[in-house]
Parts: sequence; structure tokens; C-alpha cells
Amino acid sequence: MTNRTALITGASRGIGRACALALAESGARVAVAARNIEQLESLAGEIRAQSREAFVASMDLSDAESIKEAIAKIGKDFGPIAILVNNAGITKDGLAMRMKKPDWDIVIATNLTGAFVAIQQVLPGMMRERWGRIINISSLVGEMGNAGQANYAASKAGLIGLTKSIAQEMGSRNITVNSVAPGYVETDMTQGLSEELKQKMLDNIPLKRMGRPGDVAAAVRFLASEEAGYITGHVLDVNGGLYM
Ligand code: NAP
Repeated sequence: MTNRTALITGASRGIGRACALALAESGARVAVAARNIEQLESLAGEIRAQSREAFVASMDLSDAESIKEAIAKIGKDFGPIAILVNNAGITKDGLAMRMKKPDWDIVIATNLTGAFVAIQQVLPGMMRERWGRIINISSLVGEMGNAGQANYAASKAGLIGLTKSIAQEMGSRNITVNSVAPGYVETDMTQGLSEELKQKMLDNIPLKRMGRPGDVAAAVRFLASEEAGYITGHVLDVNGGLYM
């Protein structure tokens, strides 16, 4: 993917940060987007220190206008996006019966609608180039469901439907669209889980450890590569065998 331009959303920490570093290492020029500019600048500094190009974009995935503005700016000031990694995501957990509508809305808006809007912005450029890679970060929970995460599971299952639909629409343009579904990965998102719950999960994971951001980034890097050009509409599980 040498010299192709990649955009990674939610790159300020966790899995997105690891994806940005992995794609940069593989030769991509990376635009990193999120709300926390300080963390993005620090990541961009790390990437530039390895003699790779990086571009920082302020983007709020819950706001369509913000996504459109940021992607237009990246296109103008950095280059047309060839690889899009829709990684930004949030949780607002609670049992469905008591879930407040705003908690449903913000999770769907950020995780699902945000990804859709970003895809719409990058498709014209990819179609012109007749080359593109879109990778949507779903979740094990999108495949299995999870009590207490109806909003999050719906958003992540939605991303899988979105992936397969756009893959069918864009195949003839040489644009591949795939999803990566991580299991439990050590990031800020899972930091709040109780030790008891973590132990229970570990007991059920055949590989007997939590995932690391780099495990997910390796799958993303592969799907973004030239070599993955005949894979589309696929959901790649990176979950230590927890769900097969
Ligand atoms: P994380 O450490 O909480 O990071 C989330 C990232 O998303 C941050 O960079 C955050 O940046 C960004 N983000 C959140 N809301 C945003 C918004 N409105 N606009 C722009 N950026 C936003 O989470 P993570 O564990 O790395 O998760 C990354 C992705 O993997 C998510 O989609 C998550 O659902 C998925 N996933 C994670 C796990 C896991 O176990 N950790 C498992 C399965 C799937 P700012 O706060 O700076 O905006």
C-alpha cells in the first residue's frame, strides 16, 4: 500500500491508533481523525519520526457535517483517500428495558451512521481511481448480541450489513469492503470491566488471553493490502476463538 492515502477514524487511542501505526509502517500515508487533537498530534509526531507522512483531522463521527468537512479537507490538503478504516466507536450500556433513547441514538449515530457518511464521502474518489479499501470495525457483539448492549450490538450488526451491501455495490469498481470483528481487546473501552467478568471471559477464550490492539491492526493491515484484493464482503473475526 506504498504511498496510498489512508484515513483511520478514532485513531487517538486504542485499536485505531494501532491501525494507523501499522498502515504507516506498511508505507501508507495516514490521515488520523478523532475529537482529541492533542492525542492525534502526538500520534502524527510518532509516525513522522519514522519518516512517514501523517495528517491530523478533527472529526466528530456523530455529526455528519463534521465528517464531510474533515474528509473534504483531507482530500484537498493531503490527498484522495484510498483506504478508509471506520474504527471510531462508543458504548452506552444498559438493559434495553431501561435504555434512554439518547443513549440508543448516540451509539447508532457514532458507530453506524458515522461510518455510512464517511463511506459516502470517500466513494467518488475511489470510484475515479478504480481502487479502494474500506474496512469497518464491527465486534463479536455484533455477531452474537450481548445483554446490556442492545444499542452497541445493533450498531455493530448494522456495520456488517453495511459492509456486505457496499461490497456488492462497489465490486465492479475494484473497491473491496470488509469488516473486522474483534473480541475483547485491552483498550480504554474494556478497562472498566470488573476483574470477575474479565476472568469469566478468559475462561471462555480458547487462546487464553485478551486481544491486543496490534492483533486487530494486523487484520486491518492485511485487508488494506494489495494482496487482499480478491476478498470482499468478509467479516474477519479477531477474537482468540471466543466465537467461531
Ligand atoms: P477506545 O479506546 O475507547 O477508542 C475509541 C476511539 O473512537 C477513540 O479514538 C475516540 O476518539 C474515537 N471516538 C469516539 N467517539 C467519537 C466521535 N464522536 N467522533 C470521533 N471519534 C470518536 O476504543 P477501542 O477499544 O480502541 O475501540 C475501537 C473500535 O473497536 C470501536 O469501534 C469499538 O467498538 C471496536 N471494538 C472494540 C473492542 C474492545 O474490546 N476494545 C471489541 C470489539 C470492537 P476521541 O475520544 O478522541 O474522539
